Formats: sequence, structure tokens, C-alpha cells
Amino acid sequence: MELLSYTKKGLFCKPGNFYIDPWQPVYKAVITHSHADHARWGMKSYLCHDFSVPILKSRISEDIQVESLTYGKSLDINGVKLSLHPAGHIIGSAQVRMEYKGYVAVVTGDYKIVDDGITTPFETVKCHELVTESTFGLPVFRWKSQNTIVTQMHEWVKNNQRNRKTSVFTAYSLGKAQRLINLLNGLGDIYVHSSIAQMNAAIELNGIHLPKTTVFQQDMDKKILAGQILIIPPAAMSPQLLKKIPGAVTAICSGWMQIRGNRRWQAADAGFAISDHADWDGLLTAVKASGAEKIMVTHGYTEPFARYLNELGMNAGVVQTRFGEETDGDQ
Ligand SMILES: [Zn+2]
Ligand SMILES: [Zn+2]
Repeated sequence: MELLSYTKKGLFCKPGNFYIDPWQPVYKAVITHSHADHARWGMKSYLCHDFSVPILKSRISEDIQVESLTYGKSLDINGVKLSLHPAGHIIGSAQVRMEYKGYVAVVTGDYKIVDDGITTPFETVKCHELVTESTFGLPVFRWKSQNTIVTQMHEWVKNNQRNRKTSVFTAYSLGKAQRLINLLNGLGDIYVHSSIAQMNAAIELNGIHLPKTTVFQQDMDKKILAGQILIIPPAAMSPQLLKKIPGAVTAICSGWMQIRGNRRWQAADAGFAISDHADWDGLLTAVKASGAEKIMVTHGYTEPFARYLNELGMNAGVVQTRFGEETDGDQ
């Protein structure tokens, strides 16, 4: 059954005549989540989870034509029954389930198994064919529990506070930033870059309440930042900016921090391996739980992960996509 085909424009559902996270302009795009490598400009129409609507509009344009679905509700598109299910990656992230003539395919988009406390937790969706990401599809990537990492982060911030230093976190504006705001809430005043404030505002339009933050201004009196927390996206982080902040100490929060010699690690004072993607065990758990008889691996360490699944006796292949091209969110 050819429910999904893998085309130059993206993952295509032929009977439904729609694409999933296409990288070229198409008529109908189903969007798993609002990171830039999945939600691109130029689609005639978008379909996504309710929570992604204000985020997509804020990131792409207020004028896009967008339809939305809540988790678990289905829609008939040319005889294909389509529904969205929580992927646990960022707010509004969804797995796309398609059913046609009794055959079920699921595209996970980006996902994590761990409940981060702010995103609707991942749900297993049974299927015949699974398209899974594999950003961290190597056995070296095994996350410690969120509680363990958060304890380390809190200790780091408290130590900086004792020394009147500013704890500067690098985090992507959508996803990681909100997770950090939630996890660091109560430790001190949290200042955020304007691009993060913009994402917070879009998320709050869904009725989701985020802890209080203050927008970081280039011309603000930097002395008030002493002992406080500042969150800046990687694109806005620079040595010039850090120089203006008295006693700035920096931390990167990313799955890549699992590898100590990492170039990104060396650029910061601290690194915390906290990721919005599934680790090796999480990927395996999700693939096995799906019960899929055909698995297509994309986005990350595709070859080693697919090879391992085949060694386990599963039927896995690799599909080339353009996910992960922008590093936005792939942490
Ligand atoms: Zn991605
Ligand atoms: Zn993502």
C-alpha cells in the first residue's frame, strides 16, 4: 500500500493529496510543529494543531490560510482519515496519523517521550508504517532524568547568585526557552530576548499560562541583571552582548551537551544535556510500541539507527528529508 510517498517536495500522502512538513511550496501542507525546518513559508494552506496556529502566524505571516485540529479529532481528506496526536516535542507538536482502506501510517515529526511539564506528553499511536525522526539516534545519547538535570541547573544558578553573577542561558526561542522559563521559575527574575517574548505571547494566545518574564532591552541598566537569569537564543548571542552584562556566565541546554568535547560545549561555562528530542532508548521505545511493520527513519543519525532496527529484525529504511537543516530546535 502506497499511502505515503517520498518526493522532492516532501512526504506526500497521495490518496489524500497533501504533504507533511514539505520543504517546497505546495497546495496543502500538514505541519507537525512550528520549528523552521518543519513549518516553512509559501504553502497555499496549512493544517496543524490548534496550539500551533498563533505560533505559525507569528513566525510565517498573519495572512497564512490555516486550519487546525485538536489532538485525537479526525478529518476526512479525500477518503484519508487524518488525525493529530501529541508528540511531546514542543507546545502544539503533533504526530500525524493517516488511515486509508485499513492501512495506517504515522509520521512522528520531532518527539520526545519524557513529560517536560509544559508540552502535552507523547502518546503511542499504533500503525503499519512509521516515519520516525532520529536526531539523537546513537547509543551515546541517553538522557538523565529531567529532575537530575534541573537540580544541577538550579545549583549552578544559585552559585552564580551568591557571586552576584548573571546566569545567561542559550536556548532556542520556541520550545527550549519556554521549558527553561518553566523549570527556572522562582529562582530569580527571568529576562528574555525579544524573540522569545514574541513566542511566549503567541503561545499565551492559546490560553496557556507561562511564568512571568521581563523583556531584555539592549539599552537597559545591566546592573539589575546581577544575580538574575537571562535567556537568549543562539542567533542573538554574541561576545559583544555578553561583555555588556556584568559577571555574565553562560550555559547551553541541549542534547548535544552529552558529548563533552563538543565545540558548542567549549563555548560556554556550563552545559546541561536536556533535549526536546527522544534519546536512543526513547526512540527504540517509541518504534517498538508503534507495532509498525515498516519503519522509515529520517532527521539525524538515520543510517545507524535504521541499521540497528534491521538487526533487531525490523523492516527499516532511510528516507532523505530536509528536516534538521536549520538548527532551530534541533537540540
Ligand atoms: Zn526538526
Ligand atoms: Zn523541532
